[in-house]
Amino acid sequence: MKLFEPLHLPFVTLKNRIVMGSMHTGLEEERDGFARMAAFYQARAKGGVGLIVTGGVAPNRAGWVAPFALRLAKESQVKSHRLITDAVHEHGGQICLQILHAGRYGYHPLCVAPSAIKAPINRFKPRALSKRSIRSTISDFIVCAELARRAGYDGVEVMGSEGYLINQFIAAKTNRRTDEWGGSFANRIRFAIEIVRGIRERVGERFIIIYRLSMLDLVKDGSSFDEIVELGVRIQEAGATIINTGIGWHEARVPTIAAVVPRAGFSWVTGRFKDKISLPLIATNRINMPRVAEQVLTEGGADLISMARPFLADDEWVIKAQQGRDDEINTCIACNQACLDNIFSRQTATCLVNPRACRETVMPFTPATVQKRVAVVGAGPGGLACAVTAAARGHQVSLFEKQLAIGGQFLFARQVPGKEEFDETLRYFRRQIEIHDVDLRLGTTPTPAELKGFAEVVIATGVKPRPLTISGADHARVVSYIDVLTGAVEVGERAAIIGAGGIGFDVATFLLAGHSQAEDIEAFLTTWGIDPAIAAPGGLVSPAHHPPARQLFMLQRKTTKPGAGLGKTTGWIHRAVLKKAGVSFFTGVEYVDITDDGLGFRKDGRLQRLEVDHIVVCAGQEPEKSLADDLARDGLNVHIIGGARKAAELDAQRAISEGVACADSL
Ligand code: NAP
Ligand code: SF4
Repeated sequence: MKLFEPLHLPFVTLKNRIVMGSMHTGLEEERDGFARMAAFYQARAKGGVGLIVTGGVAPNRAGWVAPFALRLAKESQVKSHRLITDAVHEHGGQICLQILHAGRYGYHPLCVAPSAIKAPINRFKPRALSKRSIRSTISDFIVCAELARRAGYDGVEVMGSEGYLINQFIAAKTNRRTDEWGGSFANRIRFAIEIVRGIRERVGERFIIIYRLSMLDLVKDGSSFDEIVELGVRIQEAGATIINTGIGWHEARVPTIAAVVPRAGFSWVTGRFKDKISLPLIATNRINMPRVAEQVLTEGGADLISMARPFLADDEWVIKAQQGRDDEINTCIACNQACLDNIFSRQTATCLVNPRACRETVMPFTPATVQKRVAVVGAGPGGLACAVTAAARGHQVSLFEKQLAIGGQFLFARQVPGKEEFDETLRYFRRQIEIHDVDLRLGTTPTPAELKGFAEVVIATGVKPRPLTISGADHARVVSYIDVLTGAVEVGERAAIIGAGGIGFDVATFLLAGHSQAEDIEAFLTTWGIDPAIAAPGGLVSPAHHPPARQLFMLQRKTTKPGAGLGKTTGWIHRAVLKKAGVSFFTGVEYVDITDDGLGFRKDGRLQRLEVDHIVVCAGQEPEKSLADDLARDGLNVHIIGGARKAAELDAQRAISEGVACADSL
């Protein structure tokens, strides 16, 4: 496969075409951060990644993404980085430090920008850089690169995309300067070019400089195709070694990496620049499996593939792919839940499908010292994670599931457009069950007597839907989300959804969708108004209007924004999809009854009735754990995890994480 061919650069050879893209993990700010980052990157290098790019490191204080973010500006800071570079080199990997100046995205009062224009996603207004400060900022980038070289890095990546400082200089929308750093395009790209040229002059020829070029800004008044080409060529002349693809500013209202983006949904962008820029190009965004990566290399015109989140999900991705063990890859499902959402809530990142990610030193995998017979009851995400982890540790595991298939709530979630990747997680668990010889008993609910011979019993029986308690809840038009998602009920043209939480939004998305866009890049582009020609500045055009399949009404008793509890980095996408489809929201309601005339509720004291064909109940969950009480009475060693332990706010992240932690404790 081309994926595993070396790439010969003028002064160095990369062992394969796989780059671990830059991703802030929050380890950068942990007290023992360098040791933890060293272990984190080392595991990925050991797993076969050719070239790693670190999370963004600021060249000076003003460039912080957030207060006290990692900075490399002094000789005294070099030594700690050696921990990382040595750890990666020990396993034959190469590593570049990403230099990231946040500019007006810096979430602190010291932030700066070319012009004093506040970003729509930041409450801090930047100070406009003086001419002198621009010069000293360029010098800080150069010093940072030189310090990175001394710390043993094989190169640097200059972050020129995603709407950060360099991008802010390039786009007229954020650069209103009238001096030599603003106005004409030549003036606006001067900052980027001087940084790259200055770094090359300082570090010499034998040092990788990756420039992350914003190839598609996805914001109004962003760069046009011709401008991006010109910038790419000038960056090449300035001394860059590789061009990485940047897609979308952080303030863009177009999804760029979420699960709604089809796999490799933006690799065509890199392809558009292939004939224009002669440096090796890296394709990015929503590439998560070897087949997709290979296709991008062979058909899409890229020389390298960058993936970040897939290496959180599986540090052995490369080895497995190389050995043709694709079915063993723990695939990133693009949920953003445990990685980016954690970062935005100021927690250290991890991964929903791999809770050990970024916890290599605190949650290491250790084989069991005594082999035990372990029963796990329930093969939802929590039970599956527990069973395969316990078996991998050396225990003899039996996994009981009352349904005829593994998956639990994932079996419903996988039906929702944009959640197709859940199938990969189920495939992964199926294969792990085989590899670790888990005794899987489908269609079985064990009795307490049957569980008596087990040294440990894990109850992972999950949740059941909370029943509706209002008058008429048993009316024929009332259906549960399970009936809808499994296709047991064909919902009519007008439907009300009771509950505006995660499942309410999922059900609405399911009911609105004409067809899945999982493999339809063209439909995705037209839906979100992305111009494949990148003719208009920023690459935006008017989004297409697809008539929704149904008219939906969504209700909740709280007065908060519907979907307020959805993920920080994905909630806006779900809300935008529903809003665009004309869903009517009712908050602060008091349910009255359900009759032949529809759903009655009171809002602001006024009785209203929605005439609908169906009322879909998405009113949360209750634990399903009756067996646990019986077992405890029998004196068995019982562990209750996931939704069976606590249904409130249960999600797959908590279920899987509790499953792995429980297995580690056995
Ligand atoms: P949820 O997010 O807690 O939402 C439950 C909804 O039901 C709320 O809107 C609640 O609103 C309503 N409700 C609660 N008790 C009710 C009652 N007795 N009668 C009528 N309505 C009632 O739970 P979920 O939607 O079942 O989701 C389960 C978990 O999975 C959550 O943690 C969720 O975050 C997660 N999940 C997330 C996503 C995502 O991020 N995309 C997708 C699916 C699931 P009121 O109490 O205000 O009426
Ligand atoms: Fe991928 Fe979700 Fe894991 Fe993030 S949390 S790495 S998006 S699977």
